[in-house]
Amino acid sequence: MKARSTTLFILIFCFANAFCQVTERCATVHEIAGKKRGNVRFQSKVERLGLEERMVINIPVVVHVVWSKAEENISTEQIQSQLKVLNEDFNAGNVQISSVPVIFQALVADVGFQFCLASKDPNGQATNGIVRIQTANTIGIGGTTAIHHTSQGGSDAWDPSKYLNIWVSKFAGNLGGVGSFPGEGPEDEQGVEVNYKQFGTIGTATNPPYNLGRTCTHEIGHYFNLEHVWGPNANSCCTEDDGVADTPVSCEDYLDECPSGNTFSCFAPDMWMNFMNYTNDACMAMFSKGQKERMIAALNDFRAGLLESDGCQSVATNEPIFEPSLKVYGNPVDNQLVFEIKSSMTGKWDVKLVNLLGQPIYTRTALSNTPVILDCAAYGSGVCFLVAKQNQTELVRKLVLN
Ligand SMILES: [Zn+2]
Repeated sequence: MKARSTTLFILIFCFANAFCQVTERCATVHEIAGKKRGNVRFQSKVERLGLEERMVINIPVVVHVVWSKAEENISTEQIQSQLKVLNEDFNAGNVQISSVPVIFQALVADVGFQFCLASKDPNGQATNGIVRIQTANTIGIGGTTAIHHTSQGGSDAWDPSKYLNIWVSKFAGNLGGVGSFPGEGPEDEQGVEVNYKQFGTIGTATNPPYNLGRTCTHEIGHYFNLEHVWGPNANSCCTEDDGVADTPVSCEDYLDECPSGNTFSCFAPDMWMNFMNYTNDACMAMFSKGQKERMIAALNDFRAGLLESDGCQSVATNEPIFEPSLKVYGNPVDNQLVFEIKSSMTGKWDVKLVNLLGQPIYTRTALSNTPVILDCAAYGSGVCFLVAKQNQTELVRKLVLN
């Protein structure tokens, strides 16, 4: 069915369009064709992470804009519009979620990844997280090895263990994007590439159906080890799976389609609105809870350096050392607690929420000068204390949970 629909699409498109271009949504493939990546090996670490708690995981991002013509040198605002989409899509905050069919609503995952443009570069210098390089390659350097290397007309990755590298450029064809699976390919080419016409929601990315930033969401799914929902092999209709239990086995890729309600290509309704399908941007809405587990496992097993990265911390200035403080944005707290440990000392703090009996009800670590968002809905209402501790320094704030 997959092949049939793609062919149908090409025919319709060709009759209607003299240029007869064939769309390719995504070119991410495994290094070894057909290689399967099971879920089982990750299970223990997933369990250790305690997925019941809401975690916010900061992912420092650097965007490499590799451009030839001026229009390919997309604006900073356009880049920020993509970051906004990522933070909505990976935190179950997009408006399309309301269109998820009833049978899948309980499977919608709040992944808890918070993407930030890097504020500190690999040398510890202040940055806006954007690298702009003019290339002599006018055909389109996207999807090539060269885009990852300054010496070949591209842009060198920032330490891929500490930053998610995103390359934005022209592609020679109509390809939307490519992502690297963890543990595959050269270390200095890890990251995702997105066609400049599909990156963000403004500027050069205003042509439907790829105008809502979902190409990047999809490719980052691959970067965190997600397969397409039909599995690693496009030709294995209904016989292979994506290694995620709660995404139904499917065959249809929904390229350039926007279905509604329950549609079938195998045995159960397809999760056509999943980001790992090829559905139109406007009709994508969710990652599943199983996909969340798989992404967190990949983060833990392959990309753990991101968890320790200080790429989103502000660079220490020459200001005198100041007394550390615990800033809470909005108190009493409605569902989401946002706090930041202001300190001239960098590094990790042990953070906990403590109830009136002195019992910890939530613990995590946090970095200095990096806002943290916590979902407090599960902790009931009333008074509790936010405690942050680093070496001999302890900061305490009384909170009222609504
Ligand atoms: Zn893909």
